[in-house]
Amino acid sequence: MKWDREVDVLVFGAGMGGMTAALIAALEGLDVLLCEKTDQVGGTTSTSAGTVWIPGSSQAVRDGVPDSIEDARRFLEAEIGPRAQTVREAFLAAGPAALDYLETRSEVKFRAPPRHPDYHSNQPGRALAGRALAPLPFDGRLLGKDFARVRPPIAPFMVLGGMMVGKDDIPILLKPFASVRAFAAAAKLLLRHASDRLRFSRGTRLVMGNALVARLYYSLTRRNVPVVFDATLVALVKGKERVEGAVVDIGDKRRTIRARRGVILATGGFGPSEKLRAEFMRDVPVAHSNAFIGASGDGFSAARAIGAAVDDRHTSPAFYFPSSLHKDTVYPHILLDRAKPGLIAVNNDGRRFVNESDSYHDFVEGMLRANAASPSVPAWLICDRSFIRDYGLGLVHPGAGRRTIERYVADGYLHRADTFAALAQQIGVDGANLAATVAQHNRYAATGVDEAFGKGGTEYNQFNGDPANTPNPCLRPIAEPPFFAVAVHPSTMGTCVGLSTDGDARVLDADGAAIEGLYACGNDMASLFRGVYVGPGITLGPALVFAYRAVMHLASNAAAEAGDARRRISA
Ligand SMILES: Cc1cc2nc3c(=O)[nH]c(=O)nc-3n(C[C@H](O)[C@H](O)[C@H](O)COP(=O)(O)OP(=O)(O)OC[C@H]3O[C@@H](n4cnc5c(N)ncnc54)[C@H](O)[C@@H]3O)c2cc1C
Repeated sequence: MKWDREVDVLVFGAGMGGMTAALIAALEGLDVLLCEKTDQVGGTTSTSAGTVWIPGSSQAVRDGVPDSIEDARRFLEAEIGPRAQTVREAFLAAGPAALDYLETRSEVKFRAPPRHPDYHSNQPGRALAGRALAPLPFDGRLLGKDFARVRPPIAPFMVLGGMMVGKDDIPILLKPFASVRAFAAAAKLLLRHASDRLRFSRGTRLVMGNALVARLYYSLTRRNVPVVFDATLVALVKGKERVEGAVVDIGDKRRTIRARRGVILATGGFGPSEKLRAEFMRDVPVAHSNAFIGASGDGFSAARAIGAAVDDRHTSPAFYFPSSLHKDTVYPHILLDRAKPGLIAVNNDGRRFVNESDSYHDFVEGMLRANAASPSVPAWLICDRSFIRDYGLGLVHPGAGRRTIERYVADGYLHRADTFAALAQQIGVDGANLAATVAQHNRYAATGVDEAFGKGGTEYNQFNGDPANTPNPCLRPIAEPPFFAVAVHPSTMGTCVGLSTDGDARVLDADGAAIEGLYACGNDMASLFRGVYVGPGITLGPALVFAYRAVMHLASNAAAEAGDARRRISA
């Protein structure tokens, strides 16, 4: 093979998995090259909330919400049983070390919010805080002209032409006159944004996934780690013993790059690929994806082409959001509306089928289960005018005025009527059942107990409800016409099916043997949660930890060859 270039480590995909791997490789003194298919870093990570689920961290202790690995182990046992033991233990063992490594040696830093419950908060070993960590906000101005390389979040996650809004900012911006502090905080946010817009195409105060991506990219640029844009993995090159490198299209030139130590695949799974969805999600009526369009299965397919095994033994082949559709936007209903009081979801029969305040993934699982018995895809979120005023509905922000609502009604995103019978007729739902369902829901709202599905019954439900609403933060009557409906469809946020690996993220072949020189992390690696959505941050957490483990494995091999026994994987 004639190689155009040689490096120690060749990484594909500049999302969470790939940027973390490239950064740690550089910090370990390895000669690394990060190839990214598009002209921006970030992939799906840039549009995400940026939460990482990593039990037992020192960050949780520091922030006053300590968590224990032993509790997390019990929780995972209850949630996913005996599956994926090797990768699970590797994840638990290395998580805290990986976080500390990044915190002390780079600009990638996290905090533990005071409350962020696991999604099945009635299970043994669950955490109400300390396991889900959020990236610290980042000042995009530090990147200078490289700020333009950070993929922005989807437009509906920004306001005022490009200002990012974190969960904590929402109450301040909605009620700036509630207190002097709220007013000062809102004014600070708006002034900063106004000044940004004089110089940048969008706001530079970055939060959530965008802050995480910018922190990773800033750390890479500060260490002069080479990132090649428009560089697409075409195929892996496998010799007799190991993966030796890859064929890469850089712009319009085909190149061969040798990887002396290893290739790390982090191209984001295959959520948007209709072909791979048809193969691995055959029986699931999921036609939409929230994942970045570029994360379309390249790494996964390249590895399969050289004999990598696929792990598809998952409770669910993908993780889901319920999403409403508007023009090109697939808008995920994550936490702002479903759990709030005064909203129900119904199927074609006009009946509820799920606890609306459960996690997005569990909501969709409920939708898919109901659909097997009676058409429930799409399902309809139903509320009244006061709900939209207080909480918003999908793309319609809280407090939206008449003109905004008219616009969404006119283009068919929102349906509106003065009676449930008229609303049901518009959306093709059984009218008598819908009226009865709402009447029953309103009785539950009066007592505070949802006898049908238990809306508001868990810590997690209540976390996303409205604490000011009593007796149940997730229940209040739907009573003030006009009434509204929006359709929600199942969509993939990330794939669980992925390449089979060992605990060091080494890709395995059909016999379960490691393919030397090939690693996978992020969604290219099969999810260790086996299709059970246990808590916030369960794709980015493992992406970080297995990027760390992959590089430490490579680095310890390199060190061993160099006779340097000092370098050891810390887990
Ligand atoms: C709205 C939303 C919110 C979310 N919030 C969270 C959250 O808070 N916590 C959480 O854990 N998960 C969250 N997720 C899911 C999470 O964002 C993804 O699972 C995660 O970003 C995947 O990371 P990755 O590194 O595998 O891939 P990505 O971040 O998608 O990066 C993959 C990169 O690979 C590049 N690429 C693709 N093919 C090639 C090729 N052939 N050659 C070179 N490069 C290539 C792509 O262009 C892309 O830049 C969320 C998802 C969405 C949509």
